[in-house]
Amino acid sequence: MPEYSFDLVVIGSGIAGQAAASSAAEAGLSVVMLEKTGSLGGSTAMSGGFFAFSGTGEQAADGVHDSADLFLNDMVAAGGGVSDRALLQTYLDHQAETYHWLKDQGVVFRALEISSGQSAPRSHNSVITEVLTTLHRNFTSHGGETRLNHRATRLVRENGKVTAVVVQSPDGESMFHSRGGIVLATGGFSRSTHLLRTFAPDALTAIPYGGKGNTGDGLKMAWKLGAGMADMSYVTATYGSHPDTGEEFHELLTAYYMGAIVVNKEGKRFMDESQSYKVLGREVLKEAEGLGFQIFDAKIRAKSHPGIPLNDIGMLENIGHVHKADSLEELARLAGIDAAGLVQTVARYNASITGDQADETGRTNLCNGVGELLPLDQAPFYAYPAKALMTTTYCGVTINSDAQVVDIDGDVIDGLYAIGEVTGGFHGAAYMTGTSLGKGAVFGRIVAQHASANLSPVRA
Ligand SMILES: Cc1cc2nc3c(=O)[nH]c(=O)nc-3n(C[C@H](O)[C@H](O)[C@H](O)COP(=O)(O)OP(=O)(O)OC[C@H]3O[C@@H](n4cnc5c(N)ncnc54)[C@H](O)[C@@H]3O)c2cc1C
Repeated sequence: MPEYSFDLVVIGSGIAGQAAASSAAEAGLSVVMLEKTGSLGGSTAMSGGFFAFSGTGEQAADGVHDSADLFLNDMVAAGGGVSDRALLQTYLDHQAETYHWLKDQGVVFRALEISSGQSAPRSHNSVITEVLTTLHRNFTSHGGETRLNHRATRLVRENGKVTAVVVQSPDGESMFHSRGGIVLATGGFSRSTHLLRTFAPDALTAIPYGGKGNTGDGLKMAWKLGAGMADMSYVTATYGSHPDTGEEFHELLTAYYMGAIVVNKEGKRFMDESQSYKVLGREVLKEAEGLGFQIFDAKIRAKSHPGIPLNDIGMLENIGHVHKADSLEELARLAGIDAAGLVQTVARYNASITGDQADETGRTNLCNGVGELLPLDQAPFYAYPAKALMTTTYCGVTINSDAQVVDIDGDVIDGLYAIGEVTGGFHGAAYMTGTSLGKGAVFGRIVAQHASANLSPVRA
């Protein structure tokens, strides 16, 4: 079989793979990036483009008070206290450097939003396809090589060290050797029925989503070598997508973080809507038809943010996905919700805001402990029917702060790195918006720096 040799072999071309490959090529390493599908980008290319950073110029310009400590507390809380603190600290230690590196390459953060798991606005929105194009241009201009339709199938370990990977392409099998390490950046397994059935059978009823190539190949290759695993029991779908959401057009609305409530077909609320949309995703799957309707009024409709994913109500109204009526009874009829149930629920909700009565779900704020609730009392009223979308898995192989894969006994698997969604331990029980793209970029940079430092004596 044909054999090739590089300083670094990166498997996967999403944000994690591109950040590692581009940074390593910049550092002078010879790098190949292998991608199993016919196009670059994986789930990253389908994403909302939010990166979570604190202490940025965008936050300062908006007068946002945030800090690394607050960010850490939020991540620990969002993760239910089970995240690997060393990985969170590594993220915080490297976020500024990564943010500036992205900006230096021309990445533009066009909006700043507060979203799932955040108690200060720290979701920096980018046009993610432009980010990927920018990184790939940088990679190529530094001599990096890309191979599409190249699927990594097996890691080769010699004397305890991972030294090569066997790859399947339309031309047959080939072997890619690496002097500085093999990097698994293969994404999650939202497209693997087999792995979902093994780790998260409930999620099989959610709308299938995520990059087409995200079938857990990297997880399985590392598993075979004895890699540890973390967060496997927390896989859940994300709440907030219209039932007609398809491959070509992804939509997700988080009107609940602007003040909407979520009801089932009986018009009843069934969760505290201020929680992470991953937690909401788990709850909505238990409801009839897996449906939760986001109910809001004119005040919340006015908070729509045109052009910004998750917040653009106007665009969803234009494509006919939002019901609108002058009364709650009429809204219920249009949306297929029990009218009496909806009217009672809204009355109870409003009374809990203006009166002494506690909220029936325990909700006290808009999102993650902040923001004042508003009564739903100003016509017209709106309903957005939404289901849970199986976007991401956020769990997988265990790594240390240098992104080296660690086996089930806690020992480093020499020569093997893992970054991005294929890794576990970082998010814990639930994810904060923007930390997955952020994590891919941060740990991608770390791999490049680590591999480069280890190779320098060899290259000198
Ligand atoms: C709709 C949607 C919206 C999202 N919005 C956000 C957001 O705004 N902010 C945020 O932080 N996160 C968001 N996420 C999550 C985030 O996009 C992903 O977790 C992240 O992009 C994963 O990056 P990655 O590089 O690890 O994997 P991916 O981007 O999925 O890339 C993995 C690549 O590896 C390839 N691959 C797999 N197996 C092999 C193999 N054997 N050989 C070669 N190649 C292989 C795949 O084909 C794929 O191209 C969103 C996800 C979705 C689906």
